[in-house]
Amino acid sequence: MNTVYDVIVIGAGAAGLMCALEAGKRGRRVLVLEKASKAGCKIRISGGGKSNFTNLDISAGNYLSKNPHFCKSALARYTQWDFMALMSAHGLSWEEREHGQLFCEQGAKAIVEMLLEECAAGDVSFCYDCDITHIGKAQRFELQTSQQVFSASALVVATGGPSIPRMGSTDFGLQIAKQFGLKSIPFKPALVPFTFSSGFLKTFLTDLAGISFPATVSCNGQAFTEQLLITHRGLSGPVILQISSYWQKGDAIQVDLLPGVVVEEWLLQARETHPNMNLKTLLSEKLPKRLAQKLCEQVFDCQPLQQIRHKQLQQIAHTLNEWLLFPAGTEGMRTAEVATGGVDTQMLSSKTFETKTVPGLYFIGETVDVTGHLGGYNFQWAWASGWCAGQYV
Ligand SMILES: Cc1cc2nc3c(=O)[nH]c(=O)nc-3n(C[C@H](O)[C@H](O)[C@H](O)COP(=O)(O)OP(=O)(O)OC[C@H]3O[C@@H](n4cnc5c(N)ncnc54)[C@H](O)[C@@H]3O)c2cc1C
Repeated sequence: MNTVYDVIVIGAGAAGLMCALEAGKRGRRVLVLEKASKAGCKIRISGGGKSNFTNLDISAGNYLSKNPHFCKSALARYTQWDFMALMSAHGLSWEEREHGQLFCEQGAKAIVEMLLEECAAGDVSFCYDCDITHIGKAQRFELQTSQQVFSASALVVATGGPSIPRMGSTDFGLQIAKQFGLKSIPFKPALVPFTFSSGFLKTFLTDLAGISFPATVSCNGQAFTEQLLITHRGLSGPVILQISSYWQKGDAIQVDLLPGVVVEEWLLQARETHPNMNLKTLLSEKLPKRLAQKLCEQVFDCQPLQQIRHKQLQQIAHTLNEWLLFPAGTEGMRTAEVATGGVDTQMLSSKTFETKTVPGLYFIGETVDVTGHLGGYNFQWAWASGWCAGQYV
């Protein structure tokens, strides 16, 4: 195997493959170093095996970053339509699900195969099961690995984030950043379920495990309306994963159990028209029955509507529309879909993804401090940042 290249990409994930294939198309001699035994491990398991590879509606508002403007340029230059065109050229098709999420009809593996075919067309070389033991830089980057010593004039770090450590994910990208004196923001689990105190689990949540219903959940000025799922460990479902990215330890989350319903008005009206109706029966009209029952047992007094005084009715309404809950924590990197944080965008050009202080060193994908919402946004970031770097390396 050759040891001298124009470009070495560390990580054969979504961003690394995109960067490698674009650089290969430009005639650059590209080597991808991957510590797993195959490419695209996270792509393969994404979207329940169908990969939610992008979204029809992408904007900077769908991303978290210390600098919310940083992602704009890349997302504008390589769009969801560009990735869809690439898929079409390979005979791949997609289905649209709610919130504009696109899933690959031929399955996630087909996307990895497509990227590898594009890499092959550009003569990109791969070295799998490769552990990098040292990175040196003089005129060129020199990488000592478990296999050989490789060198290149450009080094692209595309090692992703540390979520799902059982897949071998680490914070290697941030270690490289540190080695070269670049600032970064520590990784933190995101798109992750919340855990709760054992008391709240025992008295409230455990009996309701498996129940799912639409809710609006807000925290730190952000709100999402999607399905909420109660589990044996706490709360999950898309709405919880989304808000988890904005949550900091100690924060409360506000849960509207009946989005779109002004509960006080609804209760007042029901008390007029059905004074003998029990609160539990009324709540069961709009909430899962088991949840309505539990709320009436544990939180409200279950009684005929006519016996509920105005102040108590307001409290019930307040709880249903603005229930404050205090998560004990999250399930952590073990189940997080992504991680916020990464290399500080101040260190990088938003056009090329090259670092401002180390010529030839690039960071792309999840390693950079840009994290998407649930819904295909993280892959679109990986494609876009990888594509941009691929034009310049
Ligand atoms: C279960 C799950 C489901 C997901 N589903 C979706 C989805 O449907 N839609 C969506 O948009 N996002 C989804 N994501 C998030 C998405 O997978 C990531 O945001 C995306 O893969 C990031 O791309 P990346 O190229 O930066 O990193 P990755 O795709 O993680 O690639 C990094 C690569 O670097 C390699 N690597 C790491 N360290 C080293 C090292 N030291 N030496 C050599 N190689 C190394 C890794 O093995 C890996 O191959 C999901 C994530 C998970 C965990």
